Amino acid sequence: MAKYVTIPSSRMTELFESIRSGVTSRGGSVESKVAGKEVVWDIRPPQRQALVRIYTSLGVGNATARAVGKDAIRIVVGALLSEGRFRPVQKAKRVFRTAPEKDTEEERVAFFMDRFRTEIRNAYASAKEVVACPKCAAPMLRRTAKKDEHEFLGCSQFPKCGGTRKLLQNAKKACRAGRENN
Ligand SMILES: [Zn+2]
Repeated sequence: MAKYVTIPSSRMTELFESIRSGVTSRGGSVESKVAGKEVVWDIRPPQRQALVRIYTSLGVGNATARAVGKDAIRIVVGALLSEGRFRPVQKAKRVFRTAPEKDTEEERVAFFMDRFRTEIRNAYASAKEVVACPKCAAPMLRRTAKKDEHEFLGCSQFPKCGGTRKLLQNAKKACRAGRENN
């Protein structure tokens, strides 16, 4: 059985500060804004247009997380389009604030924070692999040319946007992620 964990906002602050120092030292950025009852965190790898967006009710004025467990934290990898719209390239990963019941409250918090950090790390790795369109910053997808069947990257906004790129080896995983979404 799992139990819902009450996470002190200080632990969240600690986590995001440690992520911030790691990411910004490499030239990336970490920003947050309050949107309604949630805080939206954007963790952006250096020199990439895709980023990790985290939605959480933790840290909006209140000292602890809400007691009910329905407000899972959502981690989404996506790209910011030119007009500021966020376009996910993968399904949101939901992180429930649960931990093994047998643990003490302190152990449960530690368990959750570890899991949360791992999920953020995985999402960050995916974000680094997403290739953004040179024209509009939307994620690019792998496509095959009808004419000679060579593979290339085409903008996911096609036909609205005709951005293309040569297919690089490291773009393959990103395309797979993009395809799953389409
Ligand atoms: Zn485009």
